Amino acid sequence: MLSSIIVVSAQEDACSKQKALFKSAFKKPIHSNTYLNLINAYDVYYHALDLAIEADTTFISGNVLTAFTVNQQLDTFAFELHQDLMIDSIKGSNQQALGFYRISDEVFVKLNQTIPALGKTQVQIFYHGTPPTGASAAIGNGFSNGVSANYGKRVTWSLSQPYAAKEWWPCKQALTDKIDSVDIHVTTAQNNKVGSNGLLKQIVQLPNNKNRYEWKTNYPIDFYLISVSVGNYFENIDYAKPKGLKDSILILNYLYNEQAYIDNKKTLGECKDILSLFSEYFGMYPFYKEKYGHTMAPFSGGMEHQTMSTMGIISYDIMVHELAHQWFGDYITCSSWSDLWLNEGFASYIELLAYEKFYPQYYYNKLLGKMNRAKQTSGSVYVLDTASVERLFNSNLTYNKGGMVLHMLRWTLGDSLFFASLKSYVNVYGNKTASTTDFKNVCEQTSGKNLGSFFQEWIMGSGFPSYTINWNCTNKDLHLNVFQSNVQSAGSLFSIDLPLRIYFANGDSIDLRIPGAALASNYSKIPLIDSVIGIQFNYNRQILANGIVKRDSFLTAIETINQLPDIELYPNPSNGKLTVQINMQLPVLIRVFNMTGKLMFEHLQNQSTELLELPAEEGLYMIEIGNEHGRMIQKIIRTFSN
Ligand SMILES: [Zn+2]
Repeated sequence: MLSSIIVVSAQEDACSKQKALFKSAFKKPIHSNTYLNLINAYDVYYHALDLAIEADTTFISGNVLTAFTVNQQLDTFAFELHQDLMIDSIKGSNQQALGFYRISDEVFVKLNQTIPALGKTQVQIFYHGTPPTGASAAIGNGFSNGVSANYGKRVTWSLSQPYAAKEWWPCKQALTDKIDSVDIHVTTAQNNKVGSNGLLKQIVQLPNNKNRYEWKTNYPIDFYLISVSVGNYFENIDYAKPKGLKDSILILNYLYNEQAYIDNKKTLGECKDILSLFSEYFGMYPFYKEKYGHTMAPFSGGMEHQTMSTMGIISYDIMVHELAHQWFGDYITCSSWSDLWLNEGFASYIELLAYEKFYPQYYYNKLLGKMNRAKQTSGSVYVLDTASVERLFNSNLTYNKGGMVLHMLRWTLGDSLFFASLKSYVNVYGNKTASTTDFKNVCEQTSGKNLGSFFQEWIMGSGFPSYTINWNCTNKDLHLNVFQSNVQSAGSLFSIDLPLRIYFANGDSIDLRIPGAALASNYSKIPLIDSVIGIQFNYNRQILANGIVKRDSFLTAIETINQLPDIELYPNPSNGKLTVQINMQLPVLIRVFNMTGKLMFEHLQNQSTELLELPAEEGLYMIEIGNEHGRMIQKIIRTFSN
């Protein structure tokens, strides 16, 4: 659905926009088994990129050194580099030239000696060329050049997620192999600045009016988070001072020019407060020894490059979103693209946490917006088909519904256990990668609650519940009968607790949590202190659900609702005609539900014996019969009739 993606505005889904726009041209790389076995046989611990890049062209030249430990005896080193890029030479640890061959984007290098298991070695790849264009990668191109519409500045920038790092540097594109440290040196014209990861160690002046920017990061980093942007930038510096840190944290912004700074001054100035807030919520900003910052590039949205997000525009939502990714996405990276919601759902929800704290007047509308979009989804939040980047970066499903799962986890655990769980998750998986199961396990260990159904229903399952809540009040007893159906997939129901606000005749109200049950029909009786005059479902939009609340004067204090001897239904199974024999005060209201809880029809029975016509479709139906004197529910099997 290309059109539905294109109408998403940049304010709404932050970094998904650019990621989704170009999805149609994408093809997931298909690797040979030989290649996969070879890249699984080593672990990268260090890269040194030494590249020449200018702001007016994507032409790139230089070399990348890869140092690695082998897991098993290895005599061939494999990596990826797009076939449009020319390899000039490959050198081994002793500077000796190594032989290599290429099959499509896979490159195989014959090492000059067999490396024993747990041995270390390095390979240096010299290359040059113009990276491919035509949006053949997942997100446009891995390496792009363009001019900003508003400020007229030309920039060359990288955006590798999820599979496009190979379009500009030789790499191993495996999420679970974080690189321990990286040097990124970029030589460019003196009027340019180069934004990248980590700390700027020095700028070395070179002949021919060139400078070499020497960046280094000592934090583990995933391959797709290594980035560069080259342009004639205006530098703006700020500092964050989160609680519990002696030194302040550098916030370095590379903007198009001074006017761009003036235009975005207010928003950029808020970054330090958000960074401090998130440090309180999730643990200290993970890369505090280096920096945080933004570098501009002419694309829509933003990209959470580690320690320096690349931004199409500076908007509050995108700024918050990419900053949230520094914890969830960068410090903890999803261990497979199937678990992408651990990056994007988190960043999407955390946007709301900034609103809740700093702009509470907008919080509720922002939440409603995300909820409404989360309802426009089909399929599971967990990505079954990672070959489809359209599915991966589906903003309603991965971003908005993923975000709402986190919102509902907060309701399910309560604020204190929710935030404690997020902190534990950061503690355990920081600098590593994590799966949905890893996250679930941390939440269970922190909270002591079993969250198996929660994650099964909301991450692996699809749709969301729709509730019809019938209530009545007799002698200060609240009677509730909750009928549930799944808006999308028949038969699978949700066990999340229901939030109800109860209004009393005396003007007071209380908030109740009705224990969830994955049942099509669920009756409960709750003794209260006063007569109830009204009920509000989902009063703070705690859960993703539709709901109808109705007073039902037939709903009374019959606790064992399935055993009312005064009513007989037969035959069961029925071939369509069901005899209803009532030996109690008439009339009674009969309601017929299918097994997803959908009301099929109602009928008021005035005679003691009547014949009821069941719906045409075969299957199981629930027949609810009752009035103020009693009520029962019975399941009837409807068989084929002829
Ligand atoms: Zn994002």
